[in-house]
Amino acid sequence: MHPETKLVQMGKGRCQSTGAISCPVYHATAYEHPALGQSTGYDYTRTGNPTRHALEEAIAALEGGEAGFACSSGMAAIQTVMGLFSVGDHLIVSLDLYGGTYRLFEEIFTRYGLSFSYVDLRDFEAIRSASRPETRGIFIESPTNPLMRVTHIGKVCSLAKEKGWLSIVDNTFMTPWFQRPLEHGADVVVHSATKYLGGHNDVLAGLIISRGRELSQRVATLHNSMGAVLGPQDAWLLMRGMKTLALRMEKHQENALLLTQFLNGHPAVERVYYPTTDTADRSIQENQASGYGGMLSFRVKDPDRIPILLSSLRVIAFAESLGGVESLITYPWTQTHADIPEEIRRKVGVCDKLLRLSVGIENIEDLIGDLSHALNVSRDSTSKTIKERV
Ligand SMILES: *Cc1c(COP(=O)(O)O)cnc(C)c1O
Repeated sequence: MHPETKLVQMGKGRCQSTGAISCPVYHATAYEHPALGQSTGYDYTRTGNPTRHALEEAIAALEGGEAGFACSSGMAAIQTVMGLFSVGDHLIVSLDLYGGTYRLFEEIFTRYGLSFSYVDLRDFEAIRSASRPETRGIFIESPTNPLMRVTHIGKVCSLAKEKGWLSIVDNTFMTPWFQRPLEHGADVVVHSATKYLGGHNDVLAGLIISRGRELSQRVATLHNSMGAVLGPQDAWLLMRGMKTLALRMEKHQENALLLTQFLNGHPAVERVYYPTTDTADRSIQENQASGYGGMLSFRVKDPDRIPILLSSLRVIAFAESLGGVESLITYPWTQTHADIPEEIRRKVGVCDKLLRLSVGIENIEDLIGDLSHALNVSRDSTSKTIKERV
């Protein structure tokens, strides 16, 4: 079956007695045993829930993994996976990383005796020099957030395999529609399903997909023991969103490509970041993914314009998320990446001129019109303030 068919058929055929097309929502937390030593396959909902299972089986098939696990958020998924590591272990991590992941690692897991090195994973020498005898894992985001740097997943995962490290890929930006890291050698994939998979800015969820039986059993134990599982209603809502993933991703990308063209030519814009803007990144991206996605970032020339620009937008919402049908714009400097120390933010290029745009599926003319208006208003009013000051 093709991926878009798998997506659409998700949850179908789950209720033999009624033939319900949409997966029923099983709210029951406890399941009656037919007899001593027997089970319907469901005992207690933290361990397994029929609605959540439909979602978990679907995402495992989509990513090409042995098993899928649905969690209460993307952070819950990452936290669960981190349970695979033990005190003393060291991990190598993508440099410009989702801010919440950085906070989880630095503020929480360092207290549990784990350590982390943040490395530009495009640089193999840097990876080798960051590696230590106690390195046990590598955590990859590609393209990165918010600078859209592309990591060669296959090469990094084969280095990890050679060294005996567990490789984990956060595939939130690409989704299995565009990129399937397990096919390139990754051991574990995580998602903030709150973003593109859910797709409508209305459900918080995370997913884990693991390779092979042994690893999947370890993740299953962690998922059940830590208990950060997804509720049945949210599992249903997520499946509802995922059915249209293929259509949405193509439209997000179509709009994003047109917006990069518009922004590239705009006099108030200094630089655009999208997986196509750097030639080396682009060729890696084209080899490991079937698209570029719907996320882009751009740097304006004058950071003083940003407040006016943000308040002049009418279609694009100034809000802190991504991946939904509605376009959202974020200021990573004070929002998503504020927890990363200023010195590191500057080093990786997350500066006070950078805006991140999650391109929605609105009509492109409305998006270009909105940005064009906001960039021009901010330019006029900046010059006015300067004049007034003079
Ligand atoms: C949002 C996000 C997360 C965290 O997911 P939540 O669902 O918000 O907990 C992790 N990684 C990336 C890349 C994200 O964008």
